Amino acid sequence: MTKKTNQTIQVIRALRTAGQTVGSKVSIEDALAYMLSDRRHLCPKCNGKGFTTIMKDFYPPGLPDSGWATDMKPVNVDCSVCEGYGYTVKKMVPKTEVVDYVEES
Ligand SMILES: [Zn+2]
Repeated sequence: MTKKTNQTIQVIRALRTAGQTVGSKVSIEDALAYMLSDRRHLCPKCNGKGFTTIMKDFYPPGLPDSGWATDMKPVNVDCSVCEGYGYTVKKMVPKTEVVDYVEES
């Protein structure tokens, strides 16, 4: 099964669920607006995508070179700020932290 087919099935399932939740005669935009009604603020971390991409090591354990060799691949994980919705209930802003001090330019 290709990745594209898998994504198509996920979309079909999501549309069926949306149809059962908000009614099958509404547009996708209206369904999204209904399901995100209490989440009005665009997530600043994922910009509305609902996920962030991290690099994960898929090299199998138990091989002689495990721990030295790596097989890093990108993996999409649910956004930790919006929990995968892409939008947040309250407006979120970045938390800043002093790392060091430099001369003013
Ligand atoms: Zn997010």
